[in-house]
Parts: sequence; C-alpha cells; structure tokens
Amino acid sequence: MIRDIVMTIRETIEETEKKTLSPYAAFSRDSKGRERKESEDDLRPVFQRDRDRILHSKSFRRLKDKTQVFLIPEGDHYRTRLIHTLEVSQSARTIAKALKLNEDLVEAIALGHDLGHTPFGHAGERALNRVCSLGFEHSDQSLRVVDVLEKDMTGLNLTFEVRDGIANHRTTGNPSTLEGRVVQLSDKIAYMHHDMDDAIRAGILKDDSVPEKIGEVAGYKTAERLDYFIHDVIMESYGKNEIRMSPAADKAMKDLREWMFKSVYTNPKAKSEEGKAESLIESLYMYFYNRPDRLPMEYRKLMSKTGDPLERIVCDYISSMTDRYAIGVYSDLFVPTSWSIK
Ligand code: MG
Repeated sequence: MIRDIVMTIRETIEETEKKTLSPYAAFSRDSKGRERKESEDDLRPVFQRDRDRILHSKSFRRLKDKTQVFLIPEGDHYRTRLIHTLEVSQSARTIAKALKLNEDLVEAIALGHDLGHTPFGHAGERALNRVCSLGFEHSDQSLRVVDVLEKDMTGLNLTFEVRDGIANHRTTGNPSTLEGRVVQLSDKIAYMHHDMDDAIRAGILKDDSVPEKIGEVAGYKTAERLDYFIHDVIMESYGKNEIRMSPAADKAMKDLREWMFKSVYTNPKAKSEEGKAESLIESLYMYFYNRPDRLPMEYRKLMSKTGDPLERIVCDYISSMTDRYAIGVYSDLFVPTSWSIK
C-alpha cells in the first residue's frame, strides 16, 4: 500500500478536497457509500474510483457506435453518443472546477449518464417505450446498466451520489448534489451546441440562422453560445448552494430548444430513416419476446437469477446493442441470404 508517511494518498486527496472545495461540494469522504461494502482504495477516493469503473465498462465503449442525432452517418465528424458524453463531461468539469465542486463526481456522472441509451438514439428509445408494456426510459436504463448489467451482470456497485446523478440527469430529474445538477445542465448545453454544429455540417442549417431573440442574447455562432451558457451558469451559481441560469439565459435556452425541435429534431431530411429504425427495434423486441430461447445465455441466466419479467430482459438486450449490431441481428433474423456452396 502506498503511504505518504502516515496517510494514504487517498486520505491526502480527501484532506485537500476539504481544504479547497466549496462548502457546498460533495466530499468524497462524506459519500453515502455503496450498496455492497468494499474496502477503500489506497490511491483513489470513491468518486474517482467510480469514474474509472465507468470508463472501463463495455457499455461505455459501445457508445462509440450509437446514434446521437444523425443515424449511422457516413462523415467522420458527426457526433456519436460517445463524443456527446465526452463533451458533456468537458463542459461539466469546466463548470465544476470554476465553482470548486467535486470534479471526479461530475465526471463519473457525465460519463455514465447515457450508458442506457438504445441504438438509433431517441427513435430507438421511443420504439422500445411503445412496444414494451413496462415502458422504457434511457435514464432508468443507465442506472440499470451500472447496477445490474455491467461486469457480467454483477453491477459496478457505484456510490449513491454517482447513481443519483445518473438517474436524475433528465430535465424532470432532481439530483441531490450540485454536481448532479451541473451534469443535468451541461447535458443540455452540450447537445444544443453539438447538434446544431452537426446540423450545419449536414447542410440543414446555416451557422448564423438562429432567430434574433436567441442570437441577440446568447450569440449567433455555436461557439459563442456554448461560451455564453457556461459563463452564465458559473456567474449565477458562484458561491451559492444551487446551480442555476439567469432568467435571460434560461429563456434563450428554451427558445433554442424549441427552435432546434422544429428545424433539426423533426426535420424530415435529418430524420428520414427514423421510421425504419423504429420498425427494426420493434421487430427485434417482438422476436425475442416470443422466442426467449434465442436470447443470449447471459440474459436468460439474468432472468432466472433476478426473476425480472421477460419484457425487461428483452429491453436490456436490445438497448445494449450498438446501431451496427442491431442491424446485423435484424438482417440475420429477417433478411434472407443468397445461397452459395462453400
Ligand atoms: Mg446526454
């Protein structure tokens, strides 16, 4: 064990947190802990350890091939779910550092927040939610990934604070730490920024095409707006026990979101393949629901171990798939292959 005279490195880092972070930060030493008790690491405080567990998980690596907005794009510069995750983490850490909050906790929540996303982005989520009688939401699934599905169905046994931030990252959520709230806002700031940037790349929008009521407040260029929202959150929250935006920024954000919905998220050019993606997900769901014997062995074992309903297990399997894997499974099951003598 590495010791710095009398304290471990971890204890030294925990001491530094106490001396340097805001009194409103979540201190590693004060964590509400893990469901299954574990011995402490000699190098890393709990949230740093959780961040590493998420980064090393298979679900994290699969984010590289899951849709953000544009389905299986051919250009190399469009965001995938992995790049979205990294951009959320970067904005959230910038805010956390400025506000003297716990950067390790913010990073762990940010890297884990979308682990439960389906293939084909929100189209996949909508399809599963429609076809599964138990409903499906990616934020609940992200929690299920870290609690149950990861590490060969034993779960990552993360701390309360990281799990709480992941489960509450959507607008309707209510995270119990300021760090969770920082990620909740950074998620929105990040996707508004990069979805617009990708829409410009795709020729759907022009860089300066935002309406005047947004441009005059937050800037006409995507980079200007990213800077504006991050600064606004920091200025409005500095030294306070809350994370907020100014009323002007909040309104600009809502206007921007509404405008993005009209011009990008429901744009027929960007979304032309979504109907097909939804049918593909529905077909996979119905197939495995009717043929549970065709589910991979680890999911069948999970069902007998936990007693979870088949509907949930089928969602677990399908939501874990990358876009490409889902297309591969679909074509194996439903597309005839040509005959050849091998
Ligand atoms: Mg997200």
